[in-house]
Amino acid sequence: MPELSPADLLALDRAHVWHPYGPMPGRVEPLVVESASGVRLRLAQPVEGQSELIDGMASWWSAVHGYNHPELNAAARGQLDRMSHVMFGGLTHEPAVRLASLLVEITPEPLRHVFLSDSGSVAVEVAAKMCLQYWRSLGRPEKRRLLTWRGGYHGDTWTPMSVCDPDGGMHELWSGVLPRQIFAGAPPAAYEETYAESLRTLIARHAKELAAVIVEPVVQGAGGMRFHSPEYLRVLREACDTHGVLLVFDEIATGFGRTGTLFAAEQAGVSPDVMCLGKALTGGYLSMAATLCTSRVADGISRGEVPVLAHGPTFMGNPLASAVARASIELLLGQDWEGEVKRIGTGLRDGLAEAASLPGVAEVRVLGAIGVVQLDHEVDMAAATRAAVREGVWLRPFRDLVYTMPPYVTGDDDVARICRAVTAAAREG
Ligand code: PMP
Repeated sequence: MPELSPADLLALDRAHVWHPYGPMPGRVEPLVVESASGVRLRLAQPVEGQSELIDGMASWWSAVHGYNHPELNAAARGQLDRMSHVMFGGLTHEPAVRLASLLVEITPEPLRHVFLSDSGSVAVEVAAKMCLQYWRSLGRPEKRRLLTWRGGYHGDTWTPMSVCDPDGGMHELWSGVLPRQIFAGAPPAAYEETYAESLRTLIARHAKELAAVIVEPVVQGAGGMRFHSPEYLRVLREACDTHGVLLVFDEIATGFGRTGTLFAAEQAGVSPDVMCLGKALTGGYLSMAATLCTSRVADGISRGEVPVLAHGPTFMGNPLASAVARASIELLLGQDWEGEVKRIGTGLRDGLAEAASLPGVAEVRVLGAIGVVQLDHEVDMAAATRAAVREGVWLRPFRDLVYTMPPYVTGDDDVARICRAVTAAAREG
């Protein structure tokens, strides 16, 4: 095949390739990445004088170990030579079994069973299906609605969309099509008893029709990059137990150390009935997600009139992704990831401090290895991205937010550079 020049590639891209959340053809020309290693993306042609960019996004928060990591590469190559995939119906294999056992070991008790799927959105679909089916099996089919708080994000397929922030645009577009769920107000950053009471009241009032409460614990990601007191998770756990409602934690963004604990649920000392994992699960190498549940949920489903979970993606338990996921988790646990996340948090706090006094900046906040500059206006994404690229950093601002979730292997100098880029993007965006 003849090599494609960057210009050819962009022309074909524009003609044929749909990009996330974009029109067809796209309005903004994407940057062409030729390769990536460590925390750097190498561009096929220089942009704003830069031929390499530090990835401040860790590929949408997944590449926690950076790119082209020798241990993850070795895991992928080793598995590739055995088999990259076999169906999971009626067959099993070591990579999936070992990964599932490891996930049970490292997630909070009493999560015990693992359903492997191919993306975060599907993991959330599976979680919802588990919860609805649990109640159906127990003879309570009317318990089929979900409750969440505003400001959340759980993915782009139908059920996840129905529990995303209703003011985020998607609900308005699909009102009348999406299932109608129940929404509490967005959780305040600090603990407020009146808000906690409103959660209890809402759960009590709707308990008869509620299958589950689903939330992102501690950090709401793509719905607005907001942080809240872990205390609210204890309130939810208690109210769910009191009123017979299941509790789902979507840890797709928060899992694997991003908020400073391995799972955000640990900050509240509570365990959900169902937990979703994705993103950093494979260190950003391959698409894979997991839905974990307790024996109570699994037994409930399996004793029902239809005693099976009717879900089975073609690429369920994909051996290649499973092998890399296990290698990624072992790599994480084998190092002082907590220290690295803390170090990055300190770097972000120091480096972003001056952004707080910029005109147009509403708030600067940092938690774990997450740094957020919230503007008082909608960001000019093209201008903000350009400003960051000029500093040699890749960022993807959205709505009124310029933020970073860098790989945990980002060195201090690179963290400082990311902070300069976030600040420049906030100034110019
Ligand atoms: N839940 C949360 C909390 C997420 O942040 C995301 C992705 N941003 C998803 C679910 C959906 O995951 P995916 O994009 O892999 O479908």
